[in-house]
Amino acid sequence: MAGITYKCPSCGGYLNFDPDGGQWKCPFCHSVFQEDQLLAGEGKQAEEQSQAAPESDGAQVAYHCPSCGSQIVTDETTVATHCYYCHSPVVLEGRLTDDMRPDGVVPFAIDQKKAVTAFMDWVRGKRFVPRGFFSEQQVREMSGVYYPHFVTDCEAEGAIEGEGRQVSVAETPKYIITSTRHYHVRREGRFSFRGILRPALSSADRKLSDGIHPFPLEDAKPFAGAYLSGFVAERRDLDAASIRGDVEHEVESYVKPLLADDLHYDSYDVEATAKITDSATRYLLLPTWVLTYPNRRDPQHPYYYAMNGCTGRVCGKLPIDQKKLYLVGAGIAAAVFAAGCALSYFLF
Ligand SMILES: [Zn+2]
Ligand SMILES: [Zn+2]
Repeated sequence: MAGITYKCPSCGGYLNFDPDGGQWKCPFCHSVFQEDQLLAGEGKQAEEQSQAAPESDGAQVAYHCPSCGSQIVTDETTVATHCYYCHSPVVLEGRLTDDMRPDGVVPFAIDQKKAVTAFMDWVRGKRFVPRGFFSEQQVREMSGVYYPHFVTDCEAEGAIEGEGRQVSVAETPKYIITSTRHYHVRREGRFSFRGILRPALSSADRKLSDGIHPFPLEDAKPFAGAYLSGFVAERRDLDAASIRGDVEHEVESYVKPLLADDLHYDSYDVEATAKITDSATRYLLLPTWVLTYPNRRDPQHPYYYAMNGCTGRVCGKLPIDQKKLYLVGAGIAAAVFAAGCALSYFLF
């Protein structure tokens, strides 16, 4: 399989997408190219390079680097990476044909330098984190990954039905009278939902990817391979049908709070139902900065962190340094002991 390296029209070096300004930069001659300059020639670059590097012997996961010719092995879902040998960015356009071609891409808006700074700030705000984690060296290995997502916009009809109760208390000289009125409650509503996200990659960590939502979906560009240049990208291995039930569930979960929000009963019990009447699902690549931190106690389960490549929102579990925790614990014990001593001193 052939890969594509987007070449600098000035010097022939490789181009990286630069999130800071949304343009392409050549690290060799420092030329800068805008969307309209580069995307116009994209088809031509792809065509020339696929002729230069014909399909290999059908091995699904191997490709040739268009810059140095080395054969490199990737995961089956990888669509953009760096050549392991010469470090040029390579886009595997051949894996994005037909229905595997995304409808759009939300380009990175935060570059690696900013991502590293933001991440260090986040970590510094946390106590009990091992000192080694502060090494910028390690954090600099953060990689920018485009993950495939399904984005669903839909219209739904929902209803709630059940019983509402109103209680009133009246006092007479002899009795306290409590009366309860029972009401039959039914409410219907029509809803529009925009941008319900689901990962389109089976190996995606839902907790992590949900933790960095939302993405500015209004910034999505029509898909072009050149946006992936300089990053890692994965293509989908799920289809839209496989997430439909899950999206319906999510829609249902919104109907009850939306319709029952301003019911003025003292108490009520209602059941909600929802039906999606119209929906459209797009397949988008969304930008995430990812960092892996080795787990010394359990090397099979390293820690993962994710940062939204547009908003900088971070999600992940930080390793806790037991020693730091112990020292602070000991400090608290000492302080309590000292306070205890002071108290005894005053008492006796
Ligand atoms: Zn150049
Ligand atoms: Zn190479």
